Amino acid sequence: MRDVIVGDEIVVTRDGKVALDRSSFRLPEASITAVIGPNGSGKSTLLHAVTGLLPLESGTLRVLGQSPAVARKDVAYVLQHMNVNPGVPMTVREVVSMGRYPRLGLLSPVRNRDRQQIQESLELLRIDDLADRQVSKLSGGQRQRVFVAQALAQDHSILLMDEPLTGLDIHSAHTIDDIIHEEPARGCSVVFTTHDLEEARAADHVILVSGHVVADGSPEEVLTPDNLAKAYGLGLLHPENSDGSGMIDDAHDPHFAHPNES
Ligand code: ADP
Ligand code: MG
Repeated sequence: MRDVIVGDEIVVTRDGKVALDRSSFRLPEASITAVIGPNGSGKSTLLHAVTGLLPLESGTLRVLGQSPAVARKDVAYVLQHMNVNPGVPMTVREVVSMGRYPRLGLLSPVRNRDRQQIQESLELLRIDDLADRQVSKLSGGQRQRVFVAQALAQDHSILLMDEPLTGLDIHSAHTIDDIIHEEPARGCSVVFTTHDLEEARAADHVILVSGHVVADGSPEEVLTPDNLAKAYGLGLLHPENSDGSGMIDDAHDPHFAHPNES
């Protein structure tokens, strides 16, 4: 299977400090990739590099065989803490329609195909009943579904999401989780970041990050007790409680909890 993203020894800095050190990784086509690691380990930085929003200090990164900036038109993304300006009232349908703007341009007429794509995205995220509501007045989970719908409305072959499930209500988390698992059937490659080991185990491919990419491969290859100890520190593994699964004691990391359980 072809790789849609290939990072070779990439280094990314933020404010003059290394945020992601020499990292190599790949992302197989039409599959689900989870990027997992502790807080501040460089997960968001890695995604920002893939979207071309952060430049590389060194190394090479190819997205769909091109530079990240050139490939961006084919990459739909939902970043962390996306929001709309509450001072600019926008409806759910308007925000989702913005997913078509890269192609349409603001003044172009909305064609049938665009309208269809927008309607389909609203339905997939189960927000068609909210279409005329103000986005700023929705709950966090509803709003997250709006941003995922906006990304889906865009023509894309890679869907990239930064912590799409963190802190959501069960209904929103399930709806977005369904999208993650349906996208490969539409020929799309999905990459998302998470703090949740179970979400990572359910993916096809895992990138484990801790200041740099520690391991990259199938969940079985990557989520070994050894690798997890490298990424999270030995102190986080409790051998006396271990069933050999390498489970992490989430008491040490307040973010290491499944959103549905919080
Ligand atoms: P994660 O998403 O895994 O929590 P990040 O990629 O956000 O990690 O952070 C990696 C490193 O980059 C951390 O050291 C963090 O402090 C730093 N960093 C993150 N965002 C910024 C920013 N906007 N400006 C400067 N440094 C940042
Ligand atoms: Mg992050």
